[in-house]
Parts: sequence; structure tokens; C-alpha cells
Amino acid sequence: MKLENAFTMDTSSIKYGQGVTREIGYDMEEQGCRRVMVVTDRNLGKSDPIAVTLEALRGRGIDAVLFDQASVEPTDVSFKEAIAFAVKGKFDGYVAVGGGSSMDTCKAANLYATHPADFMIYVNPPVGKGTPVPGPLKPMMAIPTTAGTGSETTGVTIFDYLEMGAKTGIASRALRPIRGIIDPDNTRTLPKMVAACTGLDQLTHALEALTALPYNRRPAPDHPRLRPAYQGANPISHVWASQAIEMISKNLVRVVEHPGDDAARGEVMLAATYAGIGFGNGGVHLAHGMSYPVSGMVRDYVPEGYPSGHPIVPHGMAVCLNAPAVFRFTAQADPGIHLYCARLMGRDVSRAKPEAAGEILADAIVDLMRKVGMPNGLKAVGFGPQDVDKLVEGTLPQHRVTKLSPRPAGPEELRQLFLNSMTLW
Ligand SMILES: [Zn+2]
Repeated sequence: MKLENAFTMDTSSIKYGQGVTREIGYDMEEQGCRRVMVVTDRNLGKSDPIAVTLEALRGRGIDAVLFDQASVEPTDVSFKEAIAFAVKGKFDGYVAVGGGSSMDTCKAANLYATHPADFMIYVNPPVGKGTPVPGPLKPMMAIPTTAGTGSETTGVTIFDYLEMGAKTGIASRALRPIRGIIDPDNTRTLPKMVAACTGLDQLTHALEALTALPYNRRPAPDHPRLRPAYQGANPISHVWASQAIEMISKNLVRVVEHPGDDAARGEVMLAATYAGIGFGNGGVHLAHGMSYPVSGMVRDYVPEGYPSGHPIVPHGMAVCLNAPAVFRFTAQADPGIHLYCARLMGRDVSRAKPEAAGEILADAIVDLMRKVGMPNGLKAVGFGPQDVDKLVEGTLPQHRVTKLSPRPAGPEELRQLFLNSMTLW
């Protein structure tokens, strides 16, 4: 087997600064856009970031049309509604305002309105056909309102495929927004639990990007076009992910305890973008792969202070509940990189033994989870050992991410990882 010997760094242009949302009219004008679809979800339709965005676009004479029906947990059905709106509207540009779901919905609307095709054509295999996107999309810019998903820098969009009850997505460099507008003003009113979950999601993105299977241990693609967006750990993703881990570890508790701390909030937002560049190129692995069935199989857990008020295991929570067990498991593949992660999180590892690497990193993660109010393991969000078979079954189709685990994880290993995630302290 021929191994990969190349890696790329693909990212969006980034504009960072307090109040920069007001410049979105200029930004889109510069791209030659005259009629723009603004995508957000129902909770944000009347929010300040939307009002500012619409005003800024219209202030430059751009015809801005609001679509505020993006689903907070997008599905193929909710994507199709946005696509129909986009096709009908004949837009020449797109702006997403919100969390990952608004950005993901916007990417899908842009894709299918620009390159119409049967819905399953571009969807990741094995669920869809995974046909490469034939060309560039219309200019899209993303304005995140949670320091959360890093979706503004990635070419990935995730949704629930309802017929199969599976979480899947579309991954293509063409989907990447051309610019991310990172404005700390837009996260000022974020509820504590949302800030905690999205911050931990970012931390896990960065930890997984650093510890993923290295790019040069993946098989080489048959054609450059088939090189995946998630390429495995590489020297570029390493830089961005490292920086993100340090910034989040230093600032997340402050953001959760003092939402008015502009400096800390700005740091976590910027770190989210750094982590997005890290994992958008390096990839994620088991903690993410295992999180999808955890979120998908929620029964009655309602997190405190979450705006929806209905049962949900938020993405960032589902991801970090599995993370300690995952890193205890993957540390054997490369104890050095796991110790390095623990050091970035503020642990003194100068005398640490390699065989303790997994435990030290897991302990640093658990410590941060407790400080920001995470539940104590999968049991605390309603799962028990009787659910493990189904959780494993739901993880196995996620091989786009799980195959980047630095240690192969089959059904037996996954079973054990879920069991070890039931209670964390
Ligand atoms: Zn994530």
C-alpha cells in the first residue's frame, strides 16, 4: 500500500474584532453580491446579530433576504427546506449567522442551489454517494454567535438522515465559507451551559486533531481530488490545535463564570476558530464518532439553561463525555503527544512516565469539565450499560472520523470505551 506524503492547509479568510459584523455589507459587496440569503435559526430571527447583519447589507444596497428556519439539529428534511428557498430566491451570495446548525444549513443551501443534484449525490459514503462537488459555490460568509463549532472555517456540514436515524454529512473543500467574521459582541448573551458545551467541543476538536492518526500513515489517494478534508495529524494542524488548547484551557472557566468578561470571551472565540483550522485539516476521531449516537439516542435529559427546553445532549457535551476514556485508550499509540496535550492544558508533565500519559490527560479534561458544570458521565444524561450495544452500532458507520483514531477501534474496543464513559469521577 502506498502511503500519503502530502497535506494541505485549507481555511477561510478570517476577520476578527469587536463590532466587525457591521462591515458585512462591504465584505459581500467586495464579492460582487447583490442579492444575499441570510440564514439563521428560529431562536435568532429577532436577535441583535441578525438585525446588525441585515442593516449592514441593506446599507450597501444589497437585497438581503432572511431565512430564519434553520433547524437547531439539522436533518435532510430541514436542509431541503433551505435548499428550496435558495433555489427559488436566485441568490448570488450567502451569509450564515448563528451556531453550527445555521452555518451547516447555509452550506447545504448554497451547494444544491449552485450545483443542483439528487440530495444523496454529495452525501458522505456509505450513506450517500460521496460524489465530488463539481466546482466552486457562490460566496458564503459565516458569522458565528457561539464560540463553538469552528464551522466557519471548515468544508463540512453535518445533519441527521432521518430515514436511517444516522448522523452524516457532506465534506468538500468547496463548502468552506470564504470568510469567517469573528465578533465577540455576538456571544455576549450566550447562556452559561451553551458557552461551556461549545468551549469543550472546541477543546476536544483540538485534542483530537493533535492526536489523530498522522497524515503519512493514511493510504495515498488514487487522485489528488480524493484527498479527504480530514487528512490526519500534520504539521499545520498541529500549530493551530496547540494554540487553541492553551487559549481554551486558560479562559473557559472565566467565560462561564463571568459572561461579561469581554477579553476572555474574545480569546475563546478566537481559539474556536484556531481549533476549527486545526481539526478542519487534521480531522477528529473517536470522541466525535462516539458522540453522534449519544446525541441521537437522547431520551429525557434536558440541560440546564438550554434555550430549546426539550431533551437534548448538546454536541459539545456528548463529545466531552467520551473524551477522557478515548484519550486513556489512544495514549498508548503515542504517549508523547498526549503528554504534550496535558502540558498545553496547564499540567506539569516534566516527570511524567509515558504509561501515565492517558491518565494525566484524562484527568486534566475531567477537571475542566467539573469546573464548568458538565454532568458526570453518560449515566448522568440517562444512559446505562444496557444501551452500549446500540451506542456501538451507531458509532460504527462514522468511519470517516473513527478511522483517524491512532489506535484501531472495533466493536469490542468501542464497547469498553462507552462503559468507561458511564461515570467520570
Ligand atoms: Zn465538534
